[in-house]
Amino acid sequence: MLVVMSVGATPEQIEAVADRIRQFGYTPHVIPGGIRTAIGITGNKGPEGRELLLMMPGVEDVVRITVGYKLVSRETHPQPSVFPIAGTAVGGAFTVIAGPCSVENEAMILETARFMTGLGVRLMRAGAFKPRTSPYSFQGLGEEGLAILAKARRETGIGIVTEVMDVEMADRVAEVADVLQVGTRNMQNYSLLRKLGTVRKPVLLKRGMAATVEEWLLAAEYLMAGGNRQVILCERGVRTFADHTRNTLDLSIVPVVKHLSHLPVIIDPSHGTGRAEYVPAMSRAALAAGADGLIVEVHPDPRCALSDGQQSLSFDGFRALYESLKPLADVLRVTLR
Ligand code: PEP
Ligand code: MN
Repeated sequence: MLVVMSVGATPEQIEAVADRIRQFGYTPHVIPGGIRTAIGITGNKGPEGRELLLMMPGVEDVVRITVGYKLVSRETHPQPSVFPIAGTAVGGAFTVIAGPCSVENEAMILETARFMTGLGVRLMRAGAFKPRTSPYSFQGLGEEGLAILAKARRETGIGIVTEVMDVEMADRVAEVADVLQVGTRNMQNYSLLRKLGTVRKPVLLKRGMAATVEEWLLAAEYLMAGGNRQVILCERGVRTFADHTRNTLDLSIVPVVKHLSHLPVIIDPSHGTGRAEYVPAMSRAALAAGADGLIVEVHPDPRCALSDGQQSLSFDGFRALYESLKPLADVLRVTLR
């Protein structure tokens, strides 16, 4: 259920309603809005308590939410969410996140961070912990990679987006990351999602490679129900019969997610296509489709990359892509960040 407070409801009235919800044994989630505050209720099995809440001062309405993903839903939060991150933001504009698949060494990370900040890109991706399909492939530098990312942040001010693979490392990764990435293989790792619900950093939740929109939004609900309001959704391609690209980038999910949820949704055209030459077209398509941004793989020398070189843009390739987004963003009246 969702309690809709009246426009002039006081903080005391809001707190009294939240207390009452706790007395029922449920969890209140206060959602401040531009005009009025709403309070989402989770843990309740049915409409009991509705009449009692309706009688409380400052309460305008108590509505039933029809979908399982309550806090993720637009029903609870009609305005699109915007999350300030490292001097920029995700949501309400088109935010570009770019960088190598993996942290390979300090030099390439600092070089990439300087290149990105020079262009005006404020968030860099790079994995220190890599979920690789083969146990014989490069698994990432781990702790050493985190230290390199921390240095890049210190020296350039760039925000860091990096993957967390398991519960044990979550707190450590959260010390360095501005955004915690959950990979496609972990979208339904519910113990990891529960843990990240308690972390005070935004989470970038990639869509499982065979997940329906409902499964994806319910995974996001785990994070939000645990107390983490800052969830960024990321479409990175799904498994289909098609083999002309690594995955099938499902851009059609963008308007669907925008309709169902207030959370920002960004596109990963690198894993979505698997080929650098297809990345620019799908990046521009993502902007046109109404996505909130991109996460793109870029490497100083893609031919020598330790992971995902084939789908990584060179610096020149990325600069050309970034420049090509500007006139398109202007036409669409979208801010490019
Ligand atoms: C990545 O971003 O490098 C990655 C491993 O992504 P995904 O989880 O989408 O495969
Ligand atoms: Mn990758």
